[in-house]
Amino acid sequence: MRVIAIDGPAGSGKSTVARALAGHLGLQYLDTGAMYRSVAFAVLRSGGDPDDGEATAAVARTVELEIGLDRVIVDGVDATVEIRGPQVSQAVSVVAANPEVRAELVSRQREWVNLRGGGVLEGRDIGTVVFPDAELKIYLTADPAERARRRAKEVTDLDYEAVAADLARRDTIDSTRAADPLTEAADAVVVDTTGMTIDEVVAAIATLLGESSGGGS
Ligand code: C5P
Repeated sequence: MRVIAIDGPAGSGKSTVARALAGHLGLQYLDTGAMYRSVAFAVLRSGGDPDDGEATAAVARTVELEIGLDRVIVDGVDATVEIRGPQVSQAVSVVAANPEVRAELVSRQREWVNLRGGGVLEGRDIGTVVFPDAELKIYLTADPAERARRRAKEVTDLDYEAVAADLARRDTIDSTRAADPLTEAADAVVVDTTGMTIDEVVAAIATLLGESSGGGS
């Protein structure tokens, strides 16, 4: 079974790189951040309080998630746009710090891979917790300012300062939480994507896998 783990903070290029790499390797791609965002969306939609750990865990256990490449459906509702919005972004790190939510989503992520016989997964804890035996673990980083610039380009309704503040806040919660904090696996290859294009990052990872990226030829 071929599993590639891509971890790192927001704006490090994970999603774009993981998608391109999956296409290149002929594997499917799973955005695990979208799963945490979807649980936060379901909690907010039901009028719940993300800080209520028990209720939030109950939502995680029962919510129906369809995490597609271009669409995310939560309990039958198209949440593709809303899971990237400011309300969900505000609530998601609290939801993701809940150990019971993590246990549920980690088990769904393993099941997803088992059903498909492998995949490229991106998140915060793929190489450390979800698939510690992954064939390759990549930890993507980039300068905080560059990460905020990239994210600000994606979200049109927030300015650079607001995006930079949101990233810094989530980085702090994600890397200091007790349950599966964001950290590099001991055997992860760290790739600093500051100033690199997507093609360059994918080519670097393909080389690590012993394959050519085939880029441009
Ligand atoms: O990747 P993205 O920025 O969309 O992730 C949203 C949030 O989900 C992160 O800030 C983090 O709190 C949480 N997350 C996580 N573990 C993962 C993926 C995401 O805790 N594997």
